[in-house]
Amino acid sequence: MIYSTKKVAPPGTYKCTSCGYELKQDDEGNILPCPKCENLKWEKLI
Ligand SMILES: [Zn+2]
Repeated sequence: MIYSTKKVAPPGTYKCTSCGYELKQDDEGNILPCPKCENLKWEKLI
């Protein structure tokens, strides 16, 4: 499932759809843009 930064995302691990950077989100909330490439879309892994 793909999440964008403008939607509230549940806790879990996300992978940047552009560069593959993995981000762990501990709490439900707005997901940030990728710190490496500023991509706004994330794929939820777990
Ligand atoms: Zn990225």
